[in-house]
Amino acid sequence: MARAWRRAAPPAEDPAVRSRSGIELLDVGHTYGDRVVLREVSLVLPEHRVAVIGSNGSGKSTLARLLNGLVLPTSGRVLVDGLDTATDLRAVRRRVGFVFQDPDAQIVHPTVAEDVAFGLQNQRVPAAERDQRVTEVLARYGLTEHADHPAHLLSGGQKQLLAIAGVLVMRPARVVFDEPTTLLDLANRRRVGRVIEELEQDVVVVTHDLDLLAGFDRVLVVEDGRVVADGGPDETVGWYVARMS
Ligand code: ADP
Repeated sequence: MARAWRRAAPPAEDPAVRSRSGIELLDVGHTYGDRVVLREVSLVLPEHRVAVIGSNGSGKSTLARLLNGLVLPTSGRVLVDGLDTATDLRAVRRRVGFVFQDPDAQIVHPTVAEDVAFGLQNQRVPAAERDQRVTEVLARYGLTEHADHPAHLLSGGQKQLLAIAGVLVMRPARVVFDEPTTLLDLANRRRVGRVIEELEQDVVVVTHDLDLLAGFDRVLVVEDGRVVADGGPDETVGWYVARMS
């Protein structure tokens, strides 16, 4: 395993959204039927920004989905601030938001504002606070003028921003992104990259977009269901690119 120098997480800017102890995977395995997709993965992820890279089919998306309980481990445990995804799913989901590669998987309500408000309604956040939070997050992602438009009429880039807004309005402490830029053109890839870079939340980002990783604290390379390299972005991405060429 390539183990490179690892930078410590930056100091907390806002204690309200900083992690308490981070995400831990304890000897995690996952199988779909009799197909083994992840094996013996043990990780502690206290860093601010962690990326997961690797070939298609290596298990990255499954690993990402384990982090907020979208997938439960077949063996081992996944803990978020000490909460087990298998037994504390609701609490874990409040702490860890998830952004899918395809925003259409996430956008379910007719208008942009309704879509963003949905999760807050579910949590019975009072209407005045809900409206304020929706207004703020739409403004932050340049969607204010589209608030009452049908979500399906947005461009691909705007849809991804809407999906991100719908997660961030819930104020999770961490956000997991599963290939958030794969379906976007260059300008929108950069825009979403900047959005991720500016988040005060801790992030875990699965990506093939190696340009995204410059400021990351830690990069994991997954191969055939195992973490085969783990370190700072320069060393780890260099190791990965050399291995692929
Ligand atoms: P990656 O994100 O690296 O492409 P995935 O975690 O999506 O990898 O998939 C790893 C392997 O598990 C692939 O072979 C994929 O076909 C398989 N797989 C993923 N999801 C399922 C599922 N729901 N049922 C069966 N097999 C799956």
